[in-house]
Order: sequence, then C-alpha cells, then structure tokens
Amino acid sequence: MMLGIDNSVLVFASLVLVFETLERVRPAREIDRWKDLKIDVASFALAVAMNRACDWMISAWMQDNLPERLVASMAAVRELPAGVKILLALVCADFTIYWIHRAQHRFDTLWRTHAWHHSIEEMYWFAGFRTSFAHSFLYNIPQATIPMLFFGLGTFEASVAFAIGMVVQFWEHTNLRVDIGPLAYVFITPQYHRVHHSASELCRTNYGATFSVWDRAFKTFVDPRSLEAGTPLGLGEPLVRRRVPRMIVGV
Ligand SMILES: [Zn+2]
Ligand SMILES: [Zn+2]
Repeated sequence: MMLGIDNSVLVFASLVLVFETLERVRPAREIDRWKDLKIDVASFALAVAMNRACDWMISAWMQDNLPERLVASMAAVRELPAGVKILLALVCADFTIYWIHRAQHRFDTLWRTHAWHHSIEEMYWFAGFRTSFAHSFLYNIPQATIPMLFFGLGTFEASVAFAIGMVVQFWEHTNLRVDIGPLAYVFITPQYHRVHHSASELCRTNYGATFSVWDRAFKTFVDPRSLEAGTPLGLGEPLVRRRVPRMIVGV
C-alpha cells in the first residue's frame, strides 16, 4: 500500500522498539538471533524493494487501465466510512492470501516461491521478513490491489492499513509468550503461526496470516496449545548454501 517513505520508516522503527522490548521481557523460546542476521537483512532489503516496485507498477497500471464500469460499480463501497472500508479491505486481502498461501504448500512451482520463508529455524520479529522475491510479488498483488481497486482507500486510510499490515507481520513471527484469550477465535497468535513453521506435516496447517477463522472454516486448523515445546522449526533439512540464491529469488 502506498505510504510516504518517512511515515513507513517511522511505523517500522516504532514496531521494532515495541516488539524488541516485548521479546526481551516475555520470550517464548531461547533463540540465537545473530545466527542468520546477515542473510535476513539482505532478504529484508529485497522484500522492501519488491514491495515498492509492486505498489508503483500496480498504481501506474490502474491509473491507465481501470475499467470505468468497475469504478462505477464500486462507488457504494467507496462511500462507506473509512474504518469499515479498512476492515473490509483487510478481511478480503487476508482471505485471498489464505488461499495463495495454501496453494504455495500444494503446488511445487508455488512452493519454490515460499520455501525461503520456511527456512526460518528461529522465530523472532525480524525473521518473518525472510520472503523470496516471487513471494513478495504474489502477496503484494492482493495487498495493493484490493484496498486501492475495490475500496479506493485515500492516503490516510492507506497509511492506517499499512500500519496494521506491518503490525501483523511483526506479530505473526514474534518470539513472544502471549495469551489473547477468546480473541484467538478471530486472530492468529505467534504460537499459532509457529505451528505452521514446524519442520513436519504441521506446516500444512494454520495458513492464516491475520485471522484464524479461515483455517477453522476450511479445516486446516491445529490448536497451537498442542505444539510441543521445543518442536523444531524450518525445512527439516539443512540449508544447502548453493541453493540459497535461487530460493531468495523464489524460482
Ligand atoms: Zn507457509
Ligand atoms: Zn511465517
């Protein structure tokens, strides 16, 4: 989603401060966060570059090609209050991403876009940014088109949606011991997503990124409380160094 560089840096820096503090106070596991830091910094830079390029391409394409009939048919939705539009955009984008994510675990070609993300062996707030070029591109299509194309979010609304999306990204992968009570029926938790990162068949469960309702509705839910402490995370095999460049591209 489009957002001024200054604002997005501010949102990012604030979240680093919050999650770094929380992880130090209530860590879920002991981790060595320095182990893969270099590779994660490089991967993060690529993900940000892809995000920007994708936003730019999609908005440029839409300005020239958006069918007038489609714009007119969405007029009623665009008149909704800002908060409702943001919520609906988040739900629609999350639903689309649930199915993209599920397809990534189903089809070999798509798995190659996603394997790099599953090479994470220790989860903490920064690890989640380990996404291949192709993965970032795939996820950016719904993340950029749905809010802009269907809901016509303005600059401020897009900033709010961007900030929420960023919180989700940190929240999913944070190394935090946390219990959100009944809210877990609606939202995913770090433990919920840790199940998905298991180095076992469990990686074909808990696909949800923001809401836990899709997994419950489509029978891919595993209760995070059933995950044994110390369950290994990752691909279940050592990372072969010469394959890493291809994994980073996602082909
Ligand atoms: Zn996955
Ligand atoms: Zn993840």
